[in-house]
Amino acid sequence: MFSQQEILTCEGIILRTLPYRENERILTLMTKEHGILQAILYKKNVPAAICSPSSKIELLYKEGRGNLALGVDIHLLDANEKIRSSLAAMLEVGKMLSITLKTQVERKPAPEIYTLLRLLISLSTEMADPEILTYIYSIKILLLEGMIDTCMHCSICHQSATLTHFSKGEWLCPEHAPEYAIVAEHSVIEAWCLLVYIRQLDKIKELVLDSEVKKRLAILLDDVMQH
Ligand SMILES: [Zn+2]
Repeated sequence: MFSQQEILTCEGIILRTLPYRENERILTLMTKEHGILQAILYKKNVPAAICSPSSKIELLYKEGRGNLALGVDIHLLDANEKIRSSLAAMLEVGKMLSITLKTQVERKPAPEIYTLLRLLISLSTEMADPEILTYIYSIKILLLEGMIDTCMHCSICHQSATLTHFSKGEWLCPEHAPEYAIVAEHSVIEAWCLLVYIRQLDKIKELVLDSEVKKRLAILLDDVMQH
């Protein structure tokens, strides 16, 4: 077969590893080039130190049948060791990996999401509250996927002064909100807006969110994810 024997390389972050048959493993990666990529490798080629979730690796592989790549070898680029010294960082990185698995599609390139994931993983040990990163990650993914937009005005009358409700990724004023819309307090709307627009690293590091506001944000995010 023509190109099937060609050895390809890609860079990725390990999201998950699963044992497969007697001496193989299936690695699921978020890659720079192909979005989610699954590869099958012999266990002996996947040392435990390399295959922990969140490690950044280079994969050498051949194309197999369907989407499953046939891994030839992997090289560790960054084990992200620092994360393992902070339980809070580990927990949030785990959540971000799982959001990536849930929202990203196999072989659909999403280079911005890959870059963002790498950046937020590296920031996780520098944050007083790494949970904020998971909120930023969720909101940025929804923005990139077009499930929410950056406009902070009522999606029907376009007024911005009187936002009170949220439904299916859209903000609404009291007059245009359907009965099932979620009521959002001013502090929650403000936090949402902040997370939508935040870009600079130093600003992210300084960010503080009240625990009640975080709970309310989680409800809004769940509402979008379910639609
Ligand atoms: Zn309105």
